[in-house]
Amino acid sequence: MMKQKTIIIGAGMSGILAGYCLYKSGYRDYTIYEKGDSVGGTWRENSYPGLHCDVPAHHYSYSFALNPDWSKVFAPGPEIWAYFDRQARQLGVFDHIRFNSEIADARWDGAKWNITLKDGSTDSSDILISATGFLHQIVMPDIPGLDTFAGHKFHTARWDHSVALDDARIGIIGTGSTAVQIVSALAGRVRNLELFQRTPQWVLNVPQTEFSAEQRADFANRPELMQALYDEAAHFTRETTRAVMGLDEEGRAAMVRNCEENLARVKDPELRAHLTPDYAVGCKRLIMSPDFYEAIQRPRTELITAGIERIVPEGVLTSDGVLHELDVLVLASGFDPTAYVRPVAMTGEDGRTLADIWAEQPVAYQCVTVPHMPNFFMIGGPYSPVGNISLVLMAEWQVDYIMKCIAYIAENDAAMSPDPTATGGYIAEIRAAARKTIWATGGCRSWYLDAEGVPAIYPYPSEIFREETLGGPDFSKFTIRKLRQPEPV
Ligand code: NAP
Repeated sequence: MMKQKTIIIGAGMSGILAGYCLYKSGYRDYTIYEKGDSVGGTWRENSYPGLHCDVPAHHYSYSFALNPDWSKVFAPGPEIWAYFDRQARQLGVFDHIRFNSEIADARWDGAKWNITLKDGSTDSSDILISATGFLHQIVMPDIPGLDTFAGHKFHTARWDHSVALDDARIGIIGTGSTAVQIVSALAGRVRNLELFQRTPQWVLNVPQTEFSAEQRADFANRPELMQALYDEAAHFTRETTRAVMGLDEEGRAAMVRNCEENLARVKDPELRAHLTPDYAVGCKRLIMSPDFYEAIQRPRTELITAGIERIVPEGVLTSDGVLHELDVLVLASGFDPTAYVRPVAMTGEDGRTLADIWAEQPVAYQCVTVPHMPNFFMIGGPYSPVGNISLVLMAEWQVDYIMKCIAYIAENDAAMSPDPTATGGYIAEIRAAARKTIWATGGCRSWYLDAEGVPAIYPYPSEIFREETLGGPDFSKFTIRKLRQPEPV
């Protein structure tokens, strides 16, 4: 057993994974601090109607813990939450988690990380891993009068299940992946639904399929069948990303055709015109849905494209002077993609704070380590791959990289952080490549873009990320200091 102690921030998909990998490698002394009262991160926070993952479930699973019981190709959110809860228990991670424990502050004292929780309690560790996910801070839309609405109003990640929907007039602001899933679930099933669209989206038609009881029994008895589905979905997401990025012309043409043919299912030409984006397919994160266009054409469902002037107590007033009276206002306005480990206040070596290091923009060397923050690692840090891919696989690759760093730290009794110059060079290279991607050149605005309009996400295909992470760190790019000098003889 290794003597290093680790603290992990967050018991979502990546925190559970990190805990398991630490234990497996002999680092048995670790604690996961979780602000919520259960595991699952985004799958706990989000519980909106229609919630599912638009990455095939057999691939949105740990590669070492495939699940025969997925009910559908694109699994419903509660099933995914239950999967991670079960994994946390089966992999022996659960007992290491402290729930309802939010870390407020983390300070490096030259040898250890000292953390303080919101309740004032403290702990310390040799290694600190952020597994917070990155879309965890909600963004409320900047619309005048939002607070004046007299009905029920909530962000999609704070769904109020006490509100009855069937007889309600519901307004949804936003047309991202979240809103599309909600519209598909609610349209035609409530008294009235209005979708307030600022920007139309391209929607890829991906069929949703249920697995029969026989198929699920087959998966349990013959794991190679599940593995085949895992591999197939991995191929699908890899190829989709390549097509989005324009690295596979034929694939891209097929993807564009799919989106256009899907849109053509909208019968009313005026509605179809309103739903037609004026930017390239894949510029925003591609929406995957088998039934959004069908849903938006259902009875008592309306697409509102006039701009929102302001919110009033009765509902939404649009720029054409129409008052849309509502009982429920759903804010599908997304998340702050720049939060990462924040709001934890971090102070590294020589009193350098994360706020100071990230003053211009969040940076990380190879998406995982931050200058002046010794023995600190991030899963899903700045410039990590996101989009239409499995973040579970990305996390597995990053944890592999982190485990190699931790092995080095343990062997050498070292404190390591990336060299600031190497990090600057890495970020400059990534940003130069990112400026050339469809996410920057495709003629849209999205949460991928930073304040300068540069996509703050990994600009290369996933096979490059695989090489970069599984290849392990180049220790010459790190500032490494020995922690304990050998005793004089
Ligand atoms: P989002 O993609 O950021 O979409 C936010 C929406 O709100 C956009 O349509 C935006 O319009 C609109 N909006 C924001 N402020 C507004 C304002 N003041 N007035 C009018 N409209 C406003 O958020 P999201 O749908 O929650 O998705 C975020 C990410 O979560 C996704 O991209 C994805 O990575 C992840 N996600 C994944 C899944 C999955 O199945 N894997 C499901 C849901 C979410 P504009 O487009 O005009 O800016």
